[in-house]
Amino acid sequence: MAKHKTHFEDCDVLVVGGGMAGTGATFEARHWGRDLKIICVEKANIDRSGAVAQGLYAINCYMGMQWDENQPEDHVRYARNDLMGMVREDLGYDMARHVDSTVHMFDEWGLPMMKNEKTGRYLREGKWQIMIHGESFKPIVAEAAKKSADKIYNRIMITHLLMDEEKENRVGGAVGFNMRTGDYYVFRAKTVIVAAGGASHIFKPRAVGEGMGRTWYAPWSNGSAYALPIAVGAKMTQMENRIVLCRFKDGYGPVGAYFLHLKTYTQNANGENYEKKWYDHTKEMVGEYIDHHPTPTCLRNHAFIQETMAGGGPIQMVTTEAFQDPHLETVGWENFLGMTVGQAVVWASQNIDPKYTNPELTTSEPYVMGSHATCSGAWVSGPEDLSPPEYFWGYNRMLTVEGLFGAGDTVGGSAHKFSSGSFTEGRLAAKAAVKYIEDQKAKDIKVSDKQCEDFKDIIYKPLETYTVGRNEITGGTVSPSYISPIQGLQRLQRIMDEYVGGIATNYMTNENMLKRALELLEWLQEDLEKVGAEDYHQLMRAWELKHRTLTSQCVTEHTMFRKETRWPGYYYRGDYLKLDDENWHCLTVSRRDPKTGKFTLEKVPVYYIVDEKEKKKAS
Ligand SMILES: Cc1cc2nc3c(=O)[nH]c(=O)nc-3n(C[C@H](O)[C@H](O)[C@H](O)COP(=O)(O)OP(=O)(O)OC[C@H]3O[C@@H](n4cnc5c(N)ncnc54)[C@H](O)[C@@H]3O)c2cc1C
Repeated sequence: MAKHKTHFEDCDVLVVGGGMAGTGATFEARHWGRDLKIICVEKANIDRSGAVAQGLYAINCYMGMQWDENQPEDHVRYARNDLMGMVREDLGYDMARHVDSTVHMFDEWGLPMMKNEKTGRYLREGKWQIMIHGESFKPIVAEAAKKSADKIYNRIMITHLLMDEEKENRVGGAVGFNMRTGDYYVFRAKTVIVAAGGASHIFKPRAVGEGMGRTWYAPWSNGSAYALPIAVGAKMTQMENRIVLCRFKDGYGPVGAYFLHLKTYTQNANGENYEKKWYDHTKEMVGEYIDHHPTPTCLRNHAFIQETMAGGGPIQMVTTEAFQDPHLETVGWENFLGMTVGQAVVWASQNIDPKYTNPELTTSEPYVMGSHATCSGAWVSGPEDLSPPEYFWGYNRMLTVEGLFGAGDTVGGSAHKFSSGSFTEGRLAAKAAVKYIEDQKAKDIKVSDKQCEDFKDIIYKPLETYTVGRNEITGGTVSPSYISPIQGLQRLQRIMDEYVGGIATNYMTNENMLKRALELLEWLQEDLEKVGAEDYHQLMRAWELKHRTLTSQCVTEHTMFRKETRWPGYYYRGDYLKLDDENWHCLTVSRRDPKTGKFTLEKVPVYYIVDEKEKKKAS
């Protein structure tokens, strides 16, 4: 391993991932920690990294408290409703009460915001969304982070967290490698904020073969946000709550602006409103949740999936009416040009002009994330003024490993944060991390050279495996002594797809399938000891795959634990096809023992903090 130069960097706050949450954390860490050493490490380049790389057309989470458009309580109720009751209200409220200040900073920093000409307020796309010309969104927040950090490291993938050897269960930093130079990096840190995005490509995507790599969720989001904490024994929550998106077919173009701003609507191939048809059926499964307004996202998916299975597809978005208005037509196209250029290209290639043809929609493969209409992620402490004892252990957004914080997709239980809420959560985590240091909680952390050297051996092993094994290649890329990252990825995706509720089974699974998945995942883990990498890029692919596999194990364990179908339209437990509030009105929390690799799961109460607060005020 001598050929890979080792760089040591000691710091106070280490931010892993420079996406929305990571840039927010880096910015805020400097605000509270003027003299602290703050480092942000990013796998790509923070100017164009993460889910917002290509830009966005709307900021999906803005209260508008200054005009009394919404209050944080309203947002908590909205997220609770959308997630069929299962959210951490302390986290949601905490994000919502701070998110407007974040958006006002974006405005000050030069993000072009659309304004309502009559009122002068931000132009609303929907109740929570405001419209932006957001192609430059990511470079703008990146600039704030660059001005705040002591150093930003681009092109370094963090593969493992370091642990303190003096005090059990306390973090000590992180290690990784530079994908361009191959150099090894050791970041010894007093606190670590994991902000590494969600996970795509753990379930087999619809786009395979020539379209491989095309997914709705950022293809480079590989679940590091989950695998890093899981590997060191941090607790996770709601990992079964994977998300399935209804999107424009083949290009995965988002539908939000179309539904909300253009007022388009969906129909089946016969021009019928199919959602109504499935009302009784859905009521039978989930009870009164189907009567909630707005209809929870998963239940709308459910009607879509049922209608397609019943032969009513393809489902279409009716654009031909709205697009007759030249202004709306422009908005419809601009929406993609600033955010998902690929959708416009797909339409052009398929001769679809939405002014004359209603484009098809599809439901995506599942993704794991914590910031969209879903809430998978780490089990974190909430803020001291809101959280009940089960949800509070000292520092806001600290995981169950001391000194380890999370934000954005990393954090579970708090859905509907989106870009602005993730940046806000990064700020909250950084403020708490600085306080943790000021409170002298990070004193005398010991990370030995041996710990760092051991990780170095582990990280570069795939290069060695390839170098030795390539001599035995029998044909093309086939070798009896190693598997390549792409072979491993495709194997993972098939396991998840066919057994854990992917598109192959129309999102259906059951206990027997899940047990089989766990068995196959364990063998995959074993075989990943033999993954080979022919260069540094492939080494990154190898580690992405390992992180995806660990994340997948956690998702499968959670899916097996929750014996009900809480979110039809996201996935179905065929052996428990109904929502079961009597037994499962709770959050699920897991922990993987780092020594044995075994998961244990528990139920944790879900509290309706907002309404209880109001009840108390009224009495
Ligand atoms: C297709 C799509 C459309 C969306 N549309 C909207 C919208 O219209 N409006 C809106 O407000 N929100 C939207 N969102 C949501 C928003 O983008 C996310 O909520 C937000 O980006 C999450 O922030 P994050 O920091 O957790 O993840 P990200 O912003 O994805 O950042 C994660 C970062 O971590 C880095 N990273 C990953 N692994 C490692 C590692 N091992 N080492 C180092 N770095 C690593 C990644 O490269 C990335 O830069 C959309 C998301 C998607 C995917």
